[in-house]
Amino acid sequence: MHYGLLAALSAGIMFFVTRPARRKLDEFRERKEHLEDARARVRKLTKQINDLKKEVPETKKCPSCVNETNKDAVFCEFCGVNIKEMEETEKEKEI
Ligand SMILES: [Zn+2]
Repeated sequence: MHYGLLAALSAGIMFFVTRPARRKLDEFRERKEHLEDARARVRKLTKQINDLKKEVPETKKCPSCVNETNKDAVFCEFCGVNIKEMEETEKEKEI
């Protein structure tokens, strides 16, 4: 038997023997890519959430209706009470 033929034959056998392993490796690489894509998406969404949180104005509790209203609001958005006035009255009571 020719050595060349033997080499070709064993190369052919090796090709088929290792095929499932190569397929698994391809699958693994594909999954890894999917995972990296998903991670990138999560990072992007987390950044968007943080940006949105920054955009939300600070709030304070209305002393009258206890709803969250804008921190700098003079009048409560919900019950219309004069928050500034109420706060000042509260301070006076403390004194
Ligand atoms: Zn209110």
